[in-house]
Amino acid sequence: MQAAQQLLAEAGARLLALDEADKAVAEARGTAEQDAAREARRKCEEKAFASALALDALVGPDLLDRALAVCKPKDRANAVRRFVARRSRRTCYHVCGVQSVYLCVEGFCSCRDFVSRAEAVDVPMCKHLVAAALADALGVSEEIIVNDEDFAKHLSSR
Ligand SMILES: [Zn+2]
Repeated sequence: MQAAQQLLAEAGARLLALDEADKAVAEARGTAEQDAAREARRKCEEKAFASALALDALVGPDLLDRALAVCKPKDRANAVRRFVARRSRRTCYHVCGVQSVYLCVEGFCSCRDFVSRAEAVDVPMCKHLVAAALADALGVSEEIIVNDEDFAKHLSSR
């Protein structure tokens, strides 16, 4: 999972850079500035595309975009909450989906998509699992430290 985490962090950073490059193109004034902004955007796009290809091979097409939409929602904060048990350092995530909040823990997600993927492939991924890793990589997850006695509640509440 180390390689996946690294790849996710890189891809996330490159997509954010592409967002910024889009803004720079939109805000550029004058021919020279516009040309420079477009060229910078083209380079960002190439890098983002390379990352996306590598991730597609790992998690399947479109999953990165969908995961980004989950972990960086425009209309609400804290879409990914990471619960950490104080003593044992066990970790689980609550990830806000469209219809519900899902539990993600150690390569498992409580959503229906994950279950259907689990029937088809050996290492199933869903957008919530990718979003949890991506949110950590981008520093947009909210960490909540809980007592070990309370940790089990967060595992069973979803
Ligand atoms: Zn899921």
